[in-house]
Amino acid sequence: MDDCIFCMIARGELDARTVYSNDLVIAFDDITPQAPVHTLIIPRRHYADMGDDVPDEVACALFAAAPKVAAIKGVAETGYRVIINNGRDASQTVQHLHVHVMGGVPFSHGMVHFSQ
Ligand code: 5GP
Ligand code: ZN
Repeated sequence: MDDCIFCMIARGELDARTVYSNDLVIAFDDITPQAPVHTLIIPRRHYADMGDDVPDEVACALFAAAPKVAAIKGVAETGYRVIINNGRDASQTVQHLHVHVMGGVPFSHGMVHFSQ
């Protein structure tokens, strides 16, 4: 995936503020944060979305990284929201699977806003 921006970040070809990484995933701050803490967790390998035959160990690594990121960013105690925008109706804009970890502010209850 030569022209995928998240693959470029994973390969170290594009700068990102890395928060956490291991063999399977990398977490880095979102370039346009929508909360005081807004970090993205991506698999090192390219999967377009959750339906792209993601191996269990990769799915598990993404899930397991969220509380680690939250602890590093100082929101483990106050709480945080974990979001995956998957596919067109979810307004996924980068076609490389990623998990948003957002916190540092109280979010309103509920999470669904329709665009129409
Ligand atoms: P989506 O809307 O696909 O769920 O989220 C994509 C996220 O990637 C957005 O929050 C956007 O700000 C972030 N993003 C897009 N391009 C870059 C980039 O080059 N670097 C970083 N760090 N974040 C990016
Ligand atoms: Zn990619």
